[in-house]
Amino acid sequence: MRSEEKARLLDERDPLASFKSEFYLKEGVIYLDGNSLGLLSRRAERSVLKLLESWKELGIDGWTEGEHPWFWLSERLGAKMAPLVGALEHEVVVTGSTTVNLHQLVSTFYKPEGRKTKILADELNFPSDIYALKSQLELRGLDPEEHLIRVKSRDGRCLDEGDIIAHMTDEVALMLLPTVLYRSGQILDVERLTREARARGIVAGWDACHSAGAVPHRFHDWDVDFAFWCTYKYLNSGPGGVAALFVHERHHGKSPGLAGWFGSDKQKQFDMSHDFTPAKEAGAWQIGTPHVLSTASLIGSLEIFHEAGIDRIREKSLQLTDWMMELVETELAGYGFDIGTPTEENRRGGHVALEHPEAARICKALKADGVIPDFRAPNVIRLAPVALYTSFGDVLEAIRRLKAIMDEKKYEQYENERGVVA
Ligand SMILES: *Cc1c(COP(=O)(O)O)cnc(C)c1O
Repeated sequence: MRSEEKARLLDERDPLASFKSEFYLKEGVIYLDGNSLGLLSRRAERSVLKLLESWKELGIDGWTEGEHPWFWLSERLGAKMAPLVGALEHEVVVTGSTTVNLHQLVSTFYKPEGRKTKILADELNFPSDIYALKSQLELRGLDPEEHLIRVKSRDGRCLDEGDIIAHMTDEVALMLLPTVLYRSGQILDVERLTREARARGIVAGWDACHSAGAVPHRFHDWDVDFAFWCTYKYLNSGPGGVAALFVHERHHGKSPGLAGWFGSDKQKQFDMSHDFTPAKEAGAWQIGTPHVLSTASLIGSLEIFHEAGIDRIREKSLQLTDWMMELVETELAGYGFDIGTPTEENRRGGHVALEHPEAARICKALKADGVIPDFRAPNVIRLAPVALYTSFGDVLEAIRRLKAIMDEKKYEQYENERGVVA
């Protein structure tokens, strides 16, 4: 079957095809960067405008009145997000940012004691997570050189679960890993690693930035201790959109490491007592006044996720990345590309990592030709076909444009260096 025909058939059978029209896409542009910044939907736009309206109309009373009273918004949206990660409604709250939530949760759950003082992480994780972990150790007077274990990758792309388990010694107090690696797109076996960690008395924490909204989880059933994620990637909340965190209900009632009045039991918050009574749910891990305007987009965006369903999103996402990898192999053979993403369905997230020595400037040429990828040093072009707004035809067109760039060597007119924001 010719590629055009196959793309057409796949699009015709796609049960999520209608969601594409909900998003602001530019004519002629194929957006493959939803794993860095998801696109604006009309519903998210409407919910932001409605929130502004509630401020305009209600002033201070917006905290308790109107369609989405701001005082309970973080908890209500947490409950709406819970099914996406397999959590109970009161185990998720929308709050903070990824890095702040990491600090909050590690402050709470990292309890070095006796020989058990180390934090287990990996050498491929996103830099912010590593900076935060190092600073957490330093705050407690511990040397990161000695107390932060970073499991090595064998090939620079992926991690081996067996290697991670081999590092779970009796000196490890807490493990923090990404569910999906930001560069290669490998998924780690969250269930298995959590089970192995907990069997050794190690707290299991997960950064789900690259899976939330693309890959379903079962954090509650898997007994994950805590997790956190941003919402501006696959969840389409927009730049600076407020993040989320998960705390398993068996920890509810614990005091948060970084306490603040918005973590209070809601009935007690305005007693203005100097004795903190934390909420008995994930909301306890909030700190200060919620960033209501930057939360509002999620009201509309999460509705779309509810209608589409995370399982259907995952199914289409796998078909899209399969299709993309098939096209890379058939259309781009001989141009020096390698696929850095594991090909097995249960080992890859929502994007494909294309590796090429000229990756930085190929990305610039792609952008100039209306295909939006992103670049991750030193040699990765990340392409994320997003289930809610990318069609199978779009994937074909993007690969064809890339082929033309390679045939015509269009990338040679650019420097092979990354931009300030890559
Ligand atoms: C996107 C991402 C972040 C970003 O953190 P912010 O606090 O939102 O800037 C951190 N960690 C990982 C793994 C990410 O993918």
